[in-house]
Amino acid sequence: MTSTEILVIGGGIAGTTTAWRLAEQGHEVTLLERGELASEASGVNAGSITNLGWGRMPDLQSYLTAGSVEIFKRLTLDLGFDFEYRASGALSAIHTDEQYAWARDRALRLSGQGYSVELLTARDARALEPHANPELPGFLYYPISAQANPAQATRAFGEAARRSGAKVVSGHEVTGLSRDGRGFRVTTTGHEFGARILILAAGAWCRPLGRMLGLDIPIVPVRGQMWATAPLAPSVFLKIAAVESAFDWERDSGRDNRTPPELTIKDGKRLTRHLYGRQTRDGEIIFGGDRQVVGDDKTPDPGGIEVNRAHAADVLPFLRRVPITRTWAGLMPFSLDGKPIIGRLPGDEQAYIVSGLASSGFGRGPMAGHLLAEFVHTGHRPHVLADADPARCVTSI
Ligand SMILES: Cc1cc2nc3c(=O)[nH]c(=O)nc-3n(C[C@H](O)[C@H](O)[C@H](O)COP(=O)(O)OP(=O)(O)OC[C@H]3O[C@@H](n4cnc5c(N)ncnc54)[C@H](O)[C@@H]3O)c2cc1C
Repeated sequence: MTSTEILVIGGGIAGTTTAWRLAEQGHEVTLLERGELASEASGVNAGSITNLGWGRMPDLQSYLTAGSVEIFKRLTLDLGFDFEYRASGALSAIHTDEQYAWARDRALRLSGQGYSVELLTARDARALEPHANPELPGFLYYPISAQANPAQATRAFGEAARRSGAKVVSGHEVTGLSRDGRGFRVTTTGHEFGARILILAAGAWCRPLGRMLGLDIPIVPVRGQMWATAPLAPSVFLKIAAVESAFDWERDSGRDNRTPPELTIKDGKRLTRHLYGRQTRDGEIIFGGDRQVVGDDKTPDPGGIEVNRAHAADVLPFLRRVPITRTWAGLMPFSLDGKPIIGRLPGDEQAYIVSGLASSGFGRGPMAGHLLAEFVHTGHRPHVLADADPARCVTSI
């Protein structure tokens, strides 16, 4: 049996950033990953990093988004890791007059709170993004939002953890977890680990791990899917999105006691269209948006891909003529109330979780990991984690 002070389960963005920060603080850390680092959601996402800044009264969302951007910048600008990070800015397309009124109010409210957002005419948006559709009523512009290659970034966090002294062990699936005296016994395919502190960072798979500890962790896997064109000459410069889904979800989030909020398809019925995309450094234009509960199925749904492609072409009309060359999907960790689950697990002083990062865990993961590391290191919960407290939703079985 291998003993360690802290054992982190999961080699996605949540696990690697937590392991890195704890190792930097001098802890003995082992990270276990069943596949390779970034082999699930953290490696297949769109790489979009939403950032509106800290605002005047930063809440949990501002900490997770603006805080993560500072950590991404440290990793690339100070430590020299290249993962294609770029503070490109983002445009979110407005399709109707009703959406325009909603977006105008949103921009006024958020900028009044000190966040970085502007309402642009289509003409001004086209000065930034020349292929944007001139017929649209307008765009929201987020000048400090960013983008990066998610697999490279997650592996860079894993490497930073290693350089700080963490052991990063891939190819070990955790199959058993039990309390053992003052710590935990962790069984993997082929090995046993003992740890004083346990951290679950297993994304969409936190629920089965929680069951091994006698806990119900209400995290539901939600399929997200994407498509890509062949590499093209530089044609899309900002991150591209649309306000339609946020506009619709504000009226009805679709949440019930079995279903997380803010899905695009529920019980086979389309609720809204969601859109995000960008052009990668190698020239592919990638877009995605659908969110659907389909168990562990990671097969893309061609119907949803077509809806998403039509939505993207409404914003960037040249995409109508560009064929799709590949599609893929991954599973996102959605909590049932839609909020992150970051903190100490109920009933155990030494068991923690960092998950529930839903559809924006790439952009929010680094600060989620750092806040959890701060909690573990000091024994005191950072005040902003009150809103992410696992005690609100995790129950004993
Ligand atoms: C198609 C798609 C597009 C997305 N686009 C964006 C975007 O543009 N911007 C954004 O911010 N977010 C985006 N997201 C969401 C984001 O990817 C996730 O929120 C985030 O990656 C979750 O990170 P995680 O570390 O919690 O989970 P994961 O990355 O899934 O990592 C969990 C890890 O735990 C491992 N694991 C699970 N069970 C075990 C076990 N028993 N033993 C050992 N290891 C185990 C898994 O193999 C996995 O590697 C997107 C997601 C998808 C699927």
